[in-house]
Amino acid sequence: MRKILIATRNHHKFEEIRKILNLSVEFINLEDLGGKDLEIEETGKDYLTNAMMKARFYAEKFSIPAIADDSGFEILSLGSLPGVMSARFLEGFDYTRKMKWILKMMRNLDDRRARFICCAVFYDPFEKILVGSIGSIEGTVAREIRGNKGFGYDPIFIPRGYERTFGELPEDVKSTISHRARAFRKLQKLLYGLFFEHT
Ligand code: IMP
Repeated sequence: MRKILIATRNHHKFEEIRKILNLSVEFINLEDLGGKDLEIEETGKDYLTNAMMKARFYAEKFSIPAIADDSGFEILSLGSLPGVMSARFLEGFDYTRKMKWILKMMRNLDDRRARFICCAVFYDPFEKILVGSIGSIEGTVAREIRGNKGFGYDPIFIPRGYERTFGELPEDVKSTISHRARAFRKLQKLLYGLFFEHT
C-alpha cells in the first residue's frame, strides 16, 4: 500500500488528520521513520511558506510523499499578532502568561476580532506534485481565560456563533469547525482526486 508521511510529532494531531483524510493509503508519522527529533526551523514569512518548507524537507529527507501544516492565531486589533510567530511569541512564557499578556494589551479594546488559520500542504517528491489548502475559523478574544481543553490559545478564543471558548467547548466541536479541520477537509478533496479511493 502507498505510504504517506504526516509530518507531525503530535499523536493527537496525527490521528485527527488521518481521520479527516480517510484515504486508502498507509499514513505514517515522524516517529515511525525515526525522525521524531528532526526539526526544521520555521523561518517563512507566512503559513504557506512554512508548510511547504516542512512538507518538502521531510519528503526529501525520507524519500516519501509528505503532508505538513502550519497554523497560527491572529488578533486584528494587535496587527494580527501573534500570527505566524504564534509558537515563538513571548518565548519562554507558558500559555497562561502569554494569554494574560494578550488580555492585558486588549483590556481597553472593543474590537476583539480574531481567527485561527491553518495551511495544509502535500508534496510528492517523485511525481513532483504540490497541493495545498488554507482553512480558518473566525471569532473573538474572550475577556478572560476560560476552560482547560485543547492547547495553545484555545482558552481565550470564542468561535463565531458560540458563547464558549475552544477551551470550554467539547473536543468534537473544535475538531469539526477548527481551522485545521477546514484546511484538511479541502486537502482531502484534492488528494481524493489523486488517489481516488476512500478507505
Ligand atoms: P502549529 O503550526 O500547528 O504547530 O501551530 C503553531 C502555533 O499556533 C501553536 O503553537 C499555537 O500557539 C497556535 N495554534 C495553532 N493551532 C491552534 C489551536 O488549534 N489552538 C490553539 N492554539 C493554536
